[in-house]
Amino acid sequence: MTAPTPRRDTRLDRFVDNYAERTQGMKVSAVRALFAVANRPEIVSLAGGMPNIKDLPLGDIADHMAEMIRANGMQVMQYGSGQGEPRIREQITGVMALEGITALADDVMISAGSQQGLDLVTRVFCDPQDVVLAESPSYVGAIGTFASYQVEVVHVPSDVSGLDPTALRETVAHVRAAGKRIKFLYTIPNYSNPSGLTQPWQRRLDVLQVCAELDILVVEDNPYGLLALDAEPVPAMRSVDTDVIYLGSFSKTFAPGFRVGWVLAPHAVREKLVLAQESATLCPPVFSQFAISNYLETSNWQEQIVSFRSMYRERRDAMLSALHDHMPAGTSWTRPIGGFFVWVTLPEGIDSQAMLPRGVDHRVAFVPGTAFYADGQGNRNVRLSYCFPTAERIVTGVERFADVVRSEIDMLDIFGVKSPSPHAHTPGPGADVT
Ligand code: PMP
Repeated sequence: MTAPTPRRDTRLDRFVDNYAERTQGMKVSAVRALFAVANRPEIVSLAGGMPNIKDLPLGDIADHMAEMIRANGMQVMQYGSGQGEPRIREQITGVMALEGITALADDVMISAGSQQGLDLVTRVFCDPQDVVLAESPSYVGAIGTFASYQVEVVHVPSDVSGLDPTALRETVAHVRAAGKRIKFLYTIPNYSNPSGLTQPWQRRLDVLQVCAELDILVVEDNPYGLLALDAEPVPAMRSVDTDVIYLGSFSKTFAPGFRVGWVLAPHAVREKLVLAQESATLCPPVFSQFAISNYLETSNWQEQIVSFRSMYRERRDAMLSALHDHMPAGTSWTRPIGGFFVWVTLPEGIDSQAMLPRGVDHRVAFVPGTAFYADGQGNRNVRLSYCFPTAERIVTGVERFADVVRSEIDMLDIFGVKSPSPHAHTPGPGADVT
């Protein structure tokens, strides 16, 4: 019997009318089309945030995985615990100890990447119209998650040390005076995506102090912590405050394809999170958890992180010195001490989103700053990432980027434009920007 040909004439509005209201927050990025172009070989992409995993010992990992299936296939390919497997949860307590955290394996829940951890935390805490506070700028994927739960993101201003505690206090007062309910502060204290900024230790204590006084829950997102490039990482906020909900991940320190992250939360919250996890996935991916457990047990994974650090350090240095050598006056940028990203502020009057197609003309791709705000800010900013291209390509990319900015300045001069152009359209966050 031949299968019937699928129908292609379905009316689009048949579905659209039935979509839940929350889907209105799920927007396609206006820059997605340009990312397709960015993948062309002649274009240097300083846009994507993909970890550079080319130095992983793939042969060894393959051998261990084959052995794992042969010896233990019945378990690793079976359903598992909704909270995650006990062995990896125990190992994760050891990983977190490297950033000063003392925790019980029982307070850890495994998630499909820290992205799913954040999704579940939001699901457990937030109703539509609730407010989440986030630093300025903040992670595009988090903004997308909050939007999908119809949560309002209110950005808290940052300075060179990241989230500003005085501004945090004022923002809380302002939001509460407007009768709105704040559910938590979402913060990325280490080499933030996208700003590259790090909160020094005293700043972390100050932020925690304000949150304790004002009764604000803190969600600390720390996927890059161990990728410190100059010194050892600053201890996590969770290391001094057990009420902090902490998100961790193996995506940057091992490989994102396994999709294994975790949430460390106070016991009662952890129990709720497991219920949410069970309704979302029954259990997080068992195969991946075992694969990572074996990797942690059989490889020198800390040495691997040391080698990731030196590879990213070389690329970070290449980007910073190329920016120093080539960027026109009036441009400034952050100097990350870890992670993947540099945040550039362009001369007044330049619109980073309008500049994007001209970047492609010059064979360089970057992410306009508007992607990292829920409220249309970021027009004068650009996120550049140094994680993926080689140092040589990074230098070429920055040279081209500087040319684009220079030609924008020339245009402003020709047309005598003095003030920033209004941003008529703000793209929603896109899945292709990580
Ligand atoms: N948080 C931040 C700040 C990130 O940059 C990313 C990935 N780019 C994530 C969370 C999600 O990572 P994963 O789900 O792979 O753990």
